[in-house]
Amino acid sequence: MTARRGVTGLGQPAMTPLGDSRAATQVLLEVAARLPLGAAHLPWSDLREVVRDRGEVLAREAGASGEGLAAAARVAQQRGGHYRTGAAPPLRPVLRPGAAAAFLGPPVAPRPRQAGELDLVVFPTVLRGDGRGADLPWRQEIPDTLSSVSWSPWAELSPTTAARLGLATGDLVTVTSGSGAVDVPAYVFPGLRDDAVAIPLGGPEALALLPAATEAASGALILATTRVRLRRVGKRLSLPILEGSPYQHGRSIVPTVSAAAPSPPRPDLSHVMYDRPSHPQHRWAMAIDLDSCTGCQACVVACFAENNVPVMGAEAAVLGRYMGWLRIERYLGDEPGEALDVALLPMLCQQCDNAPCEPVCPVYATYHSAEGLNAQVYNRCVGTRYCSNNCPYKVRTFNWRDAQAVGPQLQLNPDVTVRSRGVMEKCTFCVQRIHAGEDQAHQEGRPVRDGEVVPACAQTCPAQAITFGDANDPTSRVSLAARDPRAFRALEEVNTQPAVTYLARVRTPEAS
Ligand code: SF4
Repeated sequence: MTARRGVTGLGQPAMTPLGDSRAATQVLLEVAARLPLGAAHLPWSDLREVVRDRGEVLAREAGASGEGLAAAARVAQQRGGHYRTGAAPPLRPVLRPGAAAAFLGPPVAPRPRQAGELDLVVFPTVLRGDGRGADLPWRQEIPDTLSSVSWSPWAELSPTTAARLGLATGDLVTVTSGSGAVDVPAYVFPGLRDDAVAIPLGGPEALALLPAATEAASGALILATTRVRLRRVGKRLSLPILEGSPYQHGRSIVPTVSAAAPSPPRPDLSHVMYDRPSHPQHRWAMAIDLDSCTGCQACVVACFAENNVPVMGAEAAVLGRYMGWLRIERYLGDEPGEALDVALLPMLCQQCDNAPCEPVCPVYATYHSAEGLNAQVYNRCVGTRYCSNNCPYKVRTFNWRDAQAVGPQLQLNPDVTVRSRGVMEKCTFCVQRIHAGEDQAHQEGRPVRDGEVVPACAQTCPAQAITFGDANDPTSRVSLAARDPRAFRALEEVNTQPAVTYLARVRTPEAS
């Protein structure tokens, strides 16, 4: 196994088995041994022997021999592989013009569409991809970025086609191709052509409709030439859809600016009723660049993993009992019928200075910390949910039931409390990481450095759209972002004084 040039790994297990599990290589060995003639042809009976032999092979390749061979093999085992010293020879790709022509035949022409047929569009989604890993609960629980659907397949139809067939979102529809038929709930989406129906990969539905045929040149499954017919089943399903309204309805929740006029309109908040709280040491803050965010949801998955956020399942999702502390809000435009203009807004607790959740908590379970965090004391919460009702951002989640832990729980983060039924929970900018950074700085007798504390979402964002830091430091990256011309705050007019600054997305106006 070559991790990178110059490094050959042994592929040995990194930890003792969890429960009744085996390493992948051990499983392959056992399967191979059961094949006819398998055991007779296998030089190893278990993984330990594979790793030992491979270590010796690597040691020999590295020049060891005789008495030094066993010691070199042991070193390879201790280090997990063999590391060649010296600079790896540079990769020199050779480009041959016209080489691709040998692989590209004429495009596969679909047969002409017959009356009543639609083109089947099969597509991977950001969370479920092509289906590998679709069994992982996070990939099912977190709603798809564009449709907002979780735990279910769906058949996307344009509003015109849906109206023609008498279908609305949630209506069960039978989709039939030359290869099979499946029942899928309809999902009306204005981003689709009228002559197509789109079904995501990631479950068995799309594959059941595709012919078992591969493209000659690439060997890949032919995805794009299937025609299907739709029939209304006459049943409705409650699709787990997280979104509220897909339209902004003139509220400019996610404003768009141009390079020539980069500042979104902001309300005049000069007449404020409250004194601002003081944060003598730190005022932790975040900035999210909406022009960089791609809606990949990596931040959401990271938040689930870091903060032991429970997965509640499809039934709870239908009831809106999703527990994610961070969600990607998606808007399709301002009003239905207008040109599609998809806008994304990662939404998490805004850690407001004038937090509407705090004064309504009868037991002070939620309070404003000296560092600007809207903290939540779990063992004080009595579950009235007044705070959630009063939150304009709807970023607090309530534990309607105890999450059931399945199997060994080594995945849970020991730095974060596992919450129980009847308790409200929410984002606190990964306060456990903030404390770890502060403690480290304290031990070393220095201030916390800018960029030293990184919440899980910011750490994971592949687009580096999220910046975190101390707003008390005017030179921190988050302070600079807050002074950016594109800066705005979510629902700023309600004067909650959030610690989260968004940077407006930039679009070039179409030339008329
Ligand atoms: S990880 Fe980054 S790019 Fe992906 S949805 Fe989150 S903020 Fe956007």
